[in-house]
Amino acid sequence: MILNFGSINLDLVYRVAHLPKPGETLASTSFARFLGGKGINQSIAAARSGGAIRHIGCLGPDGKWLGEQIAHFGLSLDEITQVDVPTGHAVIFVDDTAENQIVLFGGSNLAFTKNQIEQALNTARRGDWVLLQNETNLVSYIAQEARARGLKVAYSAAPFDANAVRDLLDQINLLALNEGEAAAIAQNIGHHPAELNIDHVLITKGERGAELHSGGEILHQDSVKVEAIDTTGAGDTFLGAFMARFVDGKADEALAFAAGAAALQVTKQGAAAAIPCAEEVEAFLRNA
Ligand code: ATP
Repeated sequence: MILNFGSINLDLVYRVAHLPKPGETLASTSFARFLGGKGINQSIAAARSGGAIRHIGCLGPDGKWLGEQIAHFGLSLDEITQVDVPTGHAVIFVDDTAENQIVLFGGSNLAFTKNQIEQALNTARRGDWVLLQNETNLVSYIAQEARARGLKVAYSAAPFDANAVRDLLDQINLLALNEGEAAAIAQNIGHHPAELNIDHVLITKGERGAELHSGGEILHQDSVKVEAIDTTGAGDTFLGAFMARFVDGKADEALAFAAGAAALQVTKQGAAAAIPCAEEVEAFLRNA
């Protein structure tokens, strides 16, 4: 079982002719809203990959539509607590050249309480995994409490924050990064992530695949060749799919499955909506 203490975001996307200048009022040419957030994307990917996943999160009073979306993806709302701050959201402007401007409001994602965390952890079993990202509060507390209960901790170090990584280094069993984050760790901490004392370090490298460093061994995974349309959420899809298979399977099979899931995901527009299910990935890999 994986317990994901993860962000849930409302992405509000406005198309504009150009990005607004200071003081400018601008009419948007279209508007759409999407379920977003690294945490929930990873949970959806794990669930669609057949993994046993519990998403623990927070929504504000304005979170009804997001709750419906989450349920539509087959995730339980039982551990999504209603809090009295607005739901975390992103206001995204996209101009005619596809350049964007994003304002993030953490809101409900920063309203986790110790009580909520302990309740969830107390029902976990020894050997279960906890999954964390950098979009929620109390990340280091969750990791410490999880380890104290004999759980394993996987941490996706995004959005990158050197201090958060430093706080967590002794508390995690798996560190997941893309190449940019791996370089930022090397620069800020002075070691390549694979040299840190962590059981597993997973580095994704976009079109160039991924590598898993475990106890001095490196497993390389090629990406699957596809025509990419939109790579938003590729990393979250890879990690969710990988975790679903890794927690009770073999690392090499988990990597191959995750590469298939992420390759399929980038062939479709959108983040969560583009995440494929296990049957689609397996059929795709058989024919790849
Ligand atoms: P994002 O921020 O876009 O969600 P990321 O930077 O976290 O992504 P990447 O390393 O770019 O993550 O991609 C994760 C995985 O997705 C890669 O290891 C690869 O398997 C797959 N992937 C990404 N881009 C492509 C592509 N163009 N073709 C095939 N597979 C891809």
